[in-house]
Amino acid sequence: MNRKDFLKTMAILPIGAAAMKLSSLKTAVDTFGPTERMPVLFLGHGNPMNALADNNFTQGFQQVAKTLPKPRAILCISAHWETKGTFVTAMQKPPTIHDFGGFPQALFDVQYPAPGSPELALETQKLITSTSVGLDNSWGLDHGCWTVVKFLYPNADIPVIEMSIDYSQPASYHYELGKELAALRRKGVLIVGSGNTVHNLRLAAWDKMMVPGYAFEWAHIANEKMKNMILDKDHKSLIEFSKQGREFELAVPTPEHYLPLLYILSLQEKDEKATIFNDELVAGSLNMMSVKIDKA
Ligand code: ZN
Repeated sequence: MNRKDFLKTMAILPIGAAAMKLSSLKTAVDTFGPTERMPVLFLGHGNPMNALADNNFTQGFQQVAKTLPKPRAILCISAHWETKGTFVTAMQKPPTIHDFGGFPQALFDVQYPAPGSPELALETQKLITSTSVGLDNSWGLDHGCWTVVKFLYPNADIPVIEMSIDYSQPASYHYELGKELAALRRKGVLIVGSGNTVHNLRLAAWDKMMVPGYAFEWAHIANEKMKNMILDKDHKSLIEFSKQGREFELAVPTPEHYLPLLYILSLQEKDEKATIFNDELVAGSLNMMSVKIDKA
């Protein structure tokens, strides 16, 4: 609403109602008024134990956080929340979900008590018109989200919502859906995709976990090709990942860890560049490669 329309609205309201209208409008404007365009991030999350670590990857997250304007809120698309249809978390206080097993108690003890943002959930629901977005009150922040966002904002003082991945839809659908989030970037929202581009747990060489950069040849080839496609803005080939040959088939045996990348790339505008960081392969068949999109 521009100032003229706003004043018009005020003029036709009785005084009490006008005062109420004013305060609710002010809240809406404070929450989602225009801002500079926020960068967009894809973060390779890898092993949940990174949440407790101080290593190259967690330092990479901390470094990138220093380059970002302070967001009003975060919308995270996590590989670990797959649903039929698309949902956003809409609760005031999203619980920290420990959606894994076999890790030390210390990892289960980690809490990331960032507030939710029912306002952002509604705003996202309104913005997406190609499908109906459900408001969820049963999920929270899964480890795809909190194990990385905690390094960006350790004080947990920025509201976070998650958006789910519709497992019934093809890659092109996710790329197109991502575009519908574009307006959030100019409302102070940091959009984060969390997954892994090379992610084959079945073939992982767990005994080589501690060998820095240990990679199978196919993983190395897939990673190099993916990075070149990202830097060349060849999004078409990345959407068609299943047509890129054996290395990609091995790198992306199931799509859920790869798809968050497509949401992030779909938001890249003409004057923006992709910067790659945390580019290191782990245990032969996993990659922590992360991407920041911002002004070239
Ligand atoms: Zn994961």
